Amino acid sequence: MERSEPPVGYAPSVPGQAGTPEAGPPRASFGRELVALAGLVALPLLVYYLWLCVSDRDNSGALFVPTLADFGRIPLPTWEAALVFGAWMAFQALLYQFLPGPWVQGAPLADGRRLRYRLNGLSAFVISILACWTCGYTGLAGKLLHDQLGPLLTTVNLFAFALALLLLLFGNGEHASRRHLFYGYFMGIELNPRIGTFDFKFFLESRPGLIGWAVLNLYFLTQQMPETGYGAPTVAMVLVVAFQVFYVADYFANEEKILSTMDIRHEKLGWMLVWGDLVWVPFTYTLQAHYLVRHTHELPYWAVGGIVALNVVGYIVFRGANSQKHRFRKDPGAAIWGKPPEIVRTAQDSLLLTSGWWGLARHINYLGDLMMALAWCLPCGFDSPLPYFYVAYFLILLIHRERRDNAACQAKYGADWDAYCRKVPWRIIPYVY
Ligand code: NDP
Repeated sequence: MERSEPPVGYAPSVPGQAGTPEAGPPRASFGRELVALAGLVALPLLVYYLWLCVSDRDNSGALFVPTLADFGRIPLPTWEAALVFGAWMAFQALLYQFLPGPWVQGAPLADGRRLRYRLNGLSAFVISILACWTCGYTGLAGKLLHDQLGPLLTTVNLFAFALALLLLLFGNGEHASRRHLFYGYFMGIELNPRIGTFDFKFFLESRPGLIGWAVLNLYFLTQQMPETGYGAPTVAMVLVVAFQVFYVADYFANEEKILSTMDIRHEKLGWMLVWGDLVWVPFTYTLQAHYLVRHTHELPYWAVGGIVALNVVGYIVFRGANSQKHRFRKDPGAAIWGKPPEIVRTAQDSLLLTSGWWGLARHINYLGDLMMALAWCLPCGFDSPLPYFYVAYFLILLIHRERRDNAACQAKYGADWDAYCRKVPWRIIPYVY
């Protein structure tokens, strides 16, 4: 694959990560290997467990204590599922590669180069939804998904494991990191693997899994319609699907801003991102809609109003903060909430914004995301804890992510980061955390 990052000088998001200037050559670490191995085994099992809870036992969504016998209920891959997944990946790759869209430059790499990315995600999203709607209209998509959803889960799992292996074998990473076999496989060894202009990370991060999430949600909505007795989905289902499809559409409408996220800037492409994008996102983020297929309860008006308000406020915080940082990095002189921006200038000449949203907490954008996550779970009611898996997992993810980012920025900016932290003491929730 085209070499897209220099062997040294890349600022990592994980302090002490392989091949970083701070860390020098990677240190052998049994602990890292063990954690990576545990993740490789435990995370797919967790997805299967959630899958069995929501799709088996009359779709009750009840939790159960798994036994060895439950392994037998894991769906096996099929040729039909492989065909469906292959067609989906090929379709997405074609849209990614050939749909028109403006070219933009990514954030500077350690050697000063900037990669170019074509932004055509929104049109790919719209075309994909229309194509699936057409297939659904003919009955094809519904029948295929109904029969093949379980086998698809296993097929995509196998594909993700195989692709991560190829990335390890053929990636241009630090050779030393191959000594950390499981860790290198898990975290990846190359920052931006590319063939020509086809950027594997940007593609996987946004296209097949994220659009797949929206498509599966719409499928579950259609599956619920015959269950309600009045041929239409419940308000709870409409809320969950509308919120999440809007989130995905908004992601693509703001596609350029993805280029400044941690995943694109700092994470190498390994199992964690590949599997996360292809398996975790479409099969666990759809838990709520999947659960609602057989749970057709009605919601009181006050609950609907409260949930919509929570989602709207969460969105304002999330999008407002992310857009503000993006604009600030592009045009540091522009006014923030009508006033000149307050900043900390680092020795590396990076600017940290300390006013506006970013003066309230150092990751206020995570708070907005968490509010929306809760709004996506509440429509499911309180009969089962299963639909709340998303917000619980997301809380843990974002607390961990904030700590990783904090450590990485501390390692990178040193005393300047400490000064920023003194000025903005709250991590995610102002006056609370
Ligand atoms: P951020 O977009 O918050 O990026 C963090 C980086 O921004 C830091 O490493 C630093 O990079 C820079 N930075 C930090 N503070 C400042 C500041 N005050 N002023 C200017 N730059 C600053 O993090 P993420 O990529 O984690 O999150 C992006 C969005 O994606 C969030 O809203 C998050 O909630 C969401 N997300 C959603 C997920 C999902 O599954 N739905 C998963 C993960 C994230 P540097 O200085 O090096 O430029």
